[in-house]
Amino acid sequence: MGTKGIEIVDMDVKQLIGLLNRAFADEWLAYYQYWIGAKVVKGPMKEAVIAELTQHAADELRHADMLALRIIQLGGTPVTRPEQWYSQSNCGYDAPDSPFVKDVLDQNIKGEQCAITTYKNLVSLTMSRDPVTYSIVLQILQDEVEHEEDLQAELEDLETLLTAAAK
Ligand code: FE
Ligand code: FE
Ligand code: MG
Repeated sequence: MGTKGIEIVDMDVKQLIGLLNRAFADEWLAYYQYWIGAKVVKGPMKEAVIAELTQHAADELRHADMLALRIIQLGGTPVTRPEQWYSQSNCGYDAPDSPFVKDVLDQNIKGEQCAITTYKNLVSLTMSRDPVTYSIVLQILQDEVEHEEDLQAELEDLETLLTAAAK
């Protein structure tokens, strides 16, 4: 751990590590939810949805990496056990037991909205107290906002298609 790098953090570092670990647990669950969703999804526009889910899975894994590195920089340990992903998560996990495109999109939109709340809170908390963590959580927040919009745009296209098909 870098002593000066930690010294400039103007907040309770232990508490911050705890919050970053919760977000880290969220990212692993989000990664898997997207990854398995891309495998099982069925229905119209499947190919476009699979492409989006696969890209988002990669983004969530990258977020987990960014958080793990920051937790270690702060002198903490990222969650080491998958069972702790559940107990530490803010946003939980929605199994895509119904593989219909609309249901998978709805589940992931809900997940993104929870992620946006989580990162908005982390951005507000770190804004003037820890510029390094702030920069990381801000980048992640930007991605989550993009993810929500991507999925809602896909859902809109799908609904147009389903309405047209029903006529
Ligand atoms: Fe993420
Ligand atoms: Fe996301
Ligand atoms: Mg996208």
